[in-house]
This record gives sequence, structure tokens and C-alpha cells, in this order.
Amino acid sequence: MLLSERELFLNHLAQTSDAPVLLEIIAAKGCNMYDKNGKKYIDMISGIAVSNVGHAHPKVVKAVQKQSEKYMHLMVYGEYIQSPQVQFAKALSDSLPEGLESIYFVNSGSEAIEGAMKLAKRYTGRSQIIACKDAYHGSTHGALSLESHEEAKRNFRPLLPDINHIEFNQLADLQLITNKTAAVFIEPIQGEGGINIPTQNYLTTLRERCNETGTLLVYDEVQTGFGRTGKFWALEHFGVVPDILVCAKGMGGGMPLGAFIASAEVMHVLTYQPVLGHITTFGGHPVCCAAGFAALKVIKKEKLLTKMVKKEALFRKLLVHDKIVEVRGKGLMLAVEFESSQYREKVVLTARSKGLIIDWFLFRENSIRLAPPLVIKKKEIRQACKILMEVIEEIENKSIMN
Ligand code: PMP
Repeated sequence: MLLSERELFLNHLAQTSDAPVLLEIIAAKGCNMYDKNGKKYIDMISGIAVSNVGHAHPKVVKAVQKQSEKYMHLMVYGEYIQSPQVQFAKALSDSLPEGLESIYFVNSGSEAIEGAMKLAKRYTGRSQIIACKDAYHGSTHGALSLESHEEAKRNFRPLLPDINHIEFNQLADLQLITNKTAAVFIEPIQGEGGINIPTQNYLTTLRERCNETGTLLVYDEVQTGFGRTGKFWALEHFGVVPDILVCAKGMGGGMPLGAFIASAEVMHVLTYQPVLGHITTFGGHPVCCAAGFAALKVIKKEKLLTKMVKKEALFRKLLVHDKIVEVRGKGLMLAVEFESSQYREKVVLTARSKGLIIDWFLFRENSIRLAPPLVIKKKEIRQACKILMEVIEEIENKSIMN
């Protein structure tokens, strides 16, 4: 008997949850996805903050086609001069403040975090790393070591030693940073913690404390980067510049790509003791770099960032309801808080049945995530918010009837 793709998926794709979404998407364009029955969905999460320029943006598709016809993989990272890497690295450097001009391309967020951890230890000669509670930096051994939730780590020990946690946005905890600390890893706006924005004073004081102790400040902009928060980098909201910046997700325009970025002086330590201090075969794949560069140009050319203030405001105007406790966030990185995780779950499932794709956060169970492609039109925002209001009404009506 011929098995369906759903059965084959369950049989042959390693499962990490007992409740996968199981949508069978056959096409995606802009803010929409289509399943095999022709049902249309509005994608309000962008594959978790990846499809910032929308699905299958023609400029990105073209760049992928053109580059794959010229060449794909040629050589491991850092040996041959490959134009897509060079052009993209220059553009990234131009988009960043001074002191962040040297780009090491990898394949994912976790891998970029690993590179940044190694770089910080190698540069400072120290081993202690500090991260924030409720931060998410990835799932590999090193990145997982930075996580504060014991449950996620317990059965994977031993993990990295010498990792300590501070409370996000708590000034008092900054005293835990000492001259033994190699680096502080922090998301300038916390993502999986449920979209938490620190105060300006906190980040300024954090920078000062790192300067005092000779500690490197590492920003994880994997989720906040590439325009997600209304600036190209979230660091622009605060004017506090890190020593190392980590990015991925949106940076590949839908292709797998990540990077850790520092000054040439800091990055130089990877060239000796040992030589080849960090190695990757596929990091900075030319097709991914071509896609990422095209996405960067789309964000600038289509002036997506200037339009985002109004888009965020429209969401906030339309997302008003007794059952909505709070709307948090910046730009199109938003969280909508409900009274309980059960309520939130009902919202997600009912929304999906009505063709609206939303989800939740790893460490904030009462909130849903709204992170649509930045190209979303006002009409689509209105439509999405209307569905969300209908979802809440439907849940309320059902609870009255029960
Ligand atoms: N850092 C942050 C802030 C993230 O949100 C994520 C992914 N959700 C990662 C790192 C890890 O990225 P990846 O899944 O590409 O390894």
C-alpha cells in the first residue's frame, strides 16, 4: 500500500515533539502559504523570523538561480575569493557601526554562537561566559550551555563549565561580570523569552561594565537582525555597540546562513594558536550569500524599515480586546499576551483552522508570536487582526455554551 506523505513524514523524519503542526505546504509567496488542498494561510511568523522579505521574493529567487548556475560549493570557508561572500560581507560591514567589519560566515544561529563563544575565549584568554536567564541561543552543546532552563539541559550533561546566568535587564546583576568573564551573551531584545525590551540605561551600563572588566559584549541578533525590529539591527535602537555580533535567520533571505562579526583585530586571533581557529565546510555558501545580499538590497530598496512604524502601530490599534492582556515588542517582532497557556493554545489552534499561522515562544507560555514578513501590506495586517478577533470571539462563545 502506498503511504501518504504525512505517514512518510511521521515514519522517516526524526520527530522532536508529539504534536507536530503537520501542515502540508506546497507553495509560499509573500505573506501567504498554500497547502495541498489549495487552502491559503497568512504566515504571521515567517518560519520564526526568517522570511523577512517574504516567501520567494523574486529578487532573491533570481539571485539563487543566477548564482547556482555560476557555481555552488567550491572550497571550505576562507580560502578562495568568492564574489557573493565578498560583496555580502562588505554590505554587512557597511550596515554596522565601526568596529564590526570582519564577518565570519557560518550556516546557522547556533553555529554562529559557537564561533562567537570560541572567539571570546580565545581573544580574552578567559573561560567564564555569562548569559541571561530566559535567553535562547541555540541547541548545540555550547549554545545549549548558555540556556538557563535546567529542564532543557539536564539530560544532555556534561555541558560547558564556567557558564553563569544573570537576570535580563537587572542592573544589580551586572556586578557578576568580573575580570574573569570572557564575554556576556545577550539578545538586545529577548526573543524566545517572549519579546522583552531592556532599558537604555541597562544596555549602557552593561557596556560600561564590560569595558571596566575587559569583557567582550556579544549581541545575539539572530532574531532581531535584518530589519525585524524596525531598524536594520536592533543595536541601532540603543546606540550601544557590541564587540561581537551574531546573526542568522533573516540574513539568508530564506536560505541557511549565519555569521559572527567582530573587528578585524579581534577576529585575527583565529589565524594562529592554532591556525584555522574555526573551520566550516559550507559556511558562507555562495548561493546563500547571493540570496542574503539580494534580501538586504530588497529591505533597503523597498524601504521596508521606514514603513514599519506604521505597521506596528496598526497592529497595536487593532489588537485591542478584553482578553488581550498586553501587546509587547518592537517593529514586527511582537508578542500578544493572554491570560493562560491554555487560552493561548486555543488561540493558536483556532487561528490555524481559519488560515492564520501564529505560534508561541519557548519561555513565555501565555503569549503568541507575531512576526510576519516585513513586506506585509496594511490590508493583510487588517485581515490577520480581524481573524484573530474572530478567533477570540469564537473561543469566548464556546466557553459560554459549555
Ligand atoms: N539565537 C536566537 C536569538 C534565536 O532565536 C535562535 C533560534 N530561534 C538561535 C540563536 C539559534 O538559531 P538556529 O536555530 O539557526 O541554530
